[in-house]
Amino acid sequence: MNMVLHDFPTCHSLSLLAYSDKMSIMHQQKKRIAVIGAGIAGLTCAYELQKAGFDVVVLEKNSYVGGRMSSRVKDGVIFDLGADHLCDLYDEMKKYCQEFGITWEKMRFLKYGLSRGGQVIPIAQAVNRLSQFRLAVQYFFTKDVGDFFDLNDLADRDKNNAYDFMRLRVGKEVANYFVDAFTSTYQFHRASEISLGALLGIMNSIKKNASRWYLQRTKGGMQALPDAFARHLNVQLNHHIDKLVCDSNQCLVDDKSFDAVVLASTARASLSIYQNPTDKQKKLLGSTQYASTISVAFRIDRNLLPDYAIVWVPYVESEKISGFVNESMKGEEVMRDGESLLCVWLHEDFAKSIMDKSDDEIFAQVKKELLKVCHWFASEKQIHNHDLQRWPVAMPKFSQGHLRLVRDFMENGQGEQNVFLCGDYLNAPWTEGALRNGQKVARQITEKLAA
Ligand SMILES: Cc1cc2nc3c(=O)[nH]c(=O)nc-3n(C[C@H](O)[C@H](O)[C@H](O)COP(=O)(O)OP(=O)(O)OC[C@H]3O[C@@H](n4cnc5c(N)ncnc54)[C@H](O)[C@@H]3O)c2cc1C
Repeated sequence: MNMVLHDFPTCHSLSLLAYSDKMSIMHQQKKRIAVIGAGIAGLTCAYELQKAGFDVVVLEKNSYVGGRMSSRVKDGVIFDLGADHLCDLYDEMKKYCQEFGITWEKMRFLKYGLSRGGQVIPIAQAVNRLSQFRLAVQYFFTKDVGDFFDLNDLADRDKNNAYDFMRLRVGKEVANYFVDAFTSTYQFHRASEISLGALLGIMNSIKKNASRWYLQRTKGGMQALPDAFARHLNVQLNHHIDKLVCDSNQCLVDDKSFDAVVLASTARASLSIYQNPTDKQKKLLGSTQYASTISVAFRIDRNLLPDYAIVWVPYVESEKISGFVNESMKGEEVMRDGESLLCVWLHEDFAKSIMDKSDDEIFAQVKKELLKVCHWFASEKQIHNHDLQRWPVAMPKFSQGHLRLVRDFMENGQGEQNVFLCGDYLNAPWTEGALRNGQKVARQITEKLAA
């Protein structure tokens, strides 16, 4: 499933021809760019830079590409380790999948549930009628504020946090059972730590394009697109970068010289690699915070799983489990011998508290809590351990202030010393946010180095 080692340059003369209009920069010798990190942001950036005529190498510490967008096959079943599903709104990602011939398919079913009082109920019944009415009114008055997948657009709205705003406008029940539950399920942290700008972006998008939030996947799991990018690039796996030092003339990556460097590792890793960041780079890298989680996959008899695709577990219901996904919505690739995967995600504090425990202990603790928040199972014996992945750095927190900081940095700070920061934390959550940032950074580099 995972990529085999690529440590040879890829021939890309055909793609160069297609981009001959960008070739003015190539009158001189090709400029050499190192991309550190083969997550979806780094791979997209590298691919666009290569198309624009640069000599690009991607350096990845793991033995596989994809970072938080990757899959592992165990006992013939695909387990998506981090990112679990995509959606129809991922327009830029869909284009690459089409280009690489990757099948983009709808989930087999998509019903959302919510855990309340130990029962899983349809999400529409999560709050009382008055709360539903107040929420509908709030939606009605939501303005066309900007594109959720480019949070730089929404930086002007970065003036409050999502939880306080909704508690005051719509009440505590909606704040707890919708806003906080949504943030906890998809970001693993509380809604008080996400900017109002991000919330308004999501609400605007749901109001305008509700049907396009339908969940989708790529055949072959989350790994399919990163692997396809890597087949077209010079990717060096098992290549942990320890040191980046730069001045105005060159960038030294573990003592090898490049004209420019894309730091496409998480902010935290980038700060430890980069020995002499400028003040602006240091400020952004140092202030970016991440939530942690653990993805815990169990095998369950398919007949025990009702057709709820995703269940949100509000923090007020469980301080341990933040949500779970019925992977059978993905079809045969996640099923075997009548069993399907159920993937459980954890709230950040609980995840941190058990991060260093053994796999067996994590499975045991999560299983116990699952029985409390989900009535589908009569006993632990129906829940079989499959696999798990620890994510100490899972999701960037787009907390109040972060959106404005990023916008200012992207306009005035990006590219200092020919180092370009890249990743989801510079744009918007999730794989589409990361991928679009990769595209944006490639444009910034092309403009700067061609000038
Ligand atoms: C549990 C979980 C569930 C998620 N669910 C979804 C979902 O359902 N849908 C969705 O769209 N998104 C989801 N996401 C978010 C999505 O996975 C990320 O936003 C996106 O993949 C981030 O991509 P990136 O390229 O910015 O970073 P990363 O994927 O983290 O890439 C950074 C890369 O840098 C490498 N690296 C780090 N240090 C070094 C070093 N020193 N030298 C060399 N390489 C280095 C890393 O190994 C990694 O490959 C989820 C994330 C998690 C963790």
